Amino acid sequence: MTRFAWGVATDVGRVRQANEDAVLADDAVFAVADGMGGHRGGEIASQLAVDTLRDTFTVPSTDALVESVQDANDALFDRAGDDPDLQGMGTTLCAMALVDGDGRDLIGVVNVGDSRLYLLNDGELRQITEDHSLVATLERQGRLTRAEAAVHPQRNILTRALGIDSKVMVDSWEVLPVAGDRYLICSDGLFNELDDARIAATLRKLADPGEAARELVRLALEAGGRDNVTCVVVDVVDDDGRDPDVVYEAEPQPDPPPPADPPPTSTEPVPIGGPVRHRRSFTWRVALFVLIVLVIAGAAVGAIYYAGTNTFYVGFSGEQVTIYRGRPGGVLWIQPTIAEVTSITRVDVPSSRVSELEKGKDEASLDDARSYVSRLQEQIDQLRPSTTTTAPPTTSTTASAAIQAATDESTP
Ligand code: MN
Repeated sequence: MTRFAWGVATDVGRVRQANEDAVLADDAVFAVADGMGGHRGGEIASQLAVDTLRDTFTVPSTDALVESVQDANDALFDRAGDDPDLQGMGTTLCAMALVDGDGRDLIGVVNVGDSRLYLLNDGELRQITEDHSLVATLERQGRLTRAEAAVHPQRNILTRALGIDSKVMVDSWEVLPVAGDRYLICSDGLFNELDDARIAATLRKLADPGEAARELVRLALEAGGRDNVTCVVVDVVDDDGRDPDVVYEAEPQPDPPPPADPPPTSTEPVPIGGPVRHRRSFTWRVALFVLIVLVIAGAAVGAIYYAGTNTFYVGFSGEQVTIYRGRPGGVLWIQPTIAEVTSITRVDVPSSRVSELEKGKDEASLDDARSYVSRLQEQIDQLRPSTTTTAPPTTSTTASAAIQAATDESTP
């Protein structure tokens, strides 16, 4: 029988007023959610996400885990629709759970947003999940290095979060539990303060998962503590005496390798412990949804619609700095919609900028709006008596050039 030992630590940090991270650690389900939104929206969003996950995840399968994340998205979207104070609230959600894979224990992993799941295997740390952030996208395209992404002024822009839209795309993986493996689920408040080497060293040093989680949080506070920070450390303490190599050959693969051959060298991140299947939930529901959207868009498109949606502005959604598509106040029947969320809150914003953000700062394109957020973040970084992570000027120039290059290619 697969068994886990785990430890949890969370802290509001040294700058924020409230802890908008939420955490779930049960016998077989572990999750971290990092909320955003004003009027306590961030706290409500992250707590609602982990509560919904805990309550709806009853069948131990990865598909059920993905469904639970969709349920959490529904719960947030409905709640935000009912309460104007909570409009625009959202959250990340990163979770792992023990699931049944055709009679064999597996670890199902799901992720939306930029919280992370790491695996420490044989002393080596690797990130299993992919961040849904603008800088991570640029990093995957080879336009930014990991070090540049870590200090990039646009690192706060998320490309996916729960509660923003009626449907959400959920990434999922399956990993084989192997005794001795250690998992870490954390919010960005950890890895924005500590690099991977520091995280790995701490996870190697402290055998007790609770001690390791508390030490990671302590180090993040010491490095600046500019955000809420949350860590769940999960150790696989019993895997039923499984031999990973034997199981690997017996494991049915989505693309079966040629029978007599050893497992092919991986193209997807494969923890040494066993096979990983990385799936994105492009279900028929998503396909249908896309079709419906296309039909509606085809019927409704017109000059006014164009005028109302082909422009962007940056404003507050509650307490949260947010990029909107549309015009402040809307154009005729077309209300502005959220294009991208950021984790910059009103308390972070220099007072000189507050009134223009309250009115809504018009920008001609999404890239212009992102640049505005970028400048805002740079201004915040400069105002703060920073202890460690400040981008040297050369890095900033490289990063801006990379963004510019991305812009040039994506716009005809
Ligand atoms: Mn955060």
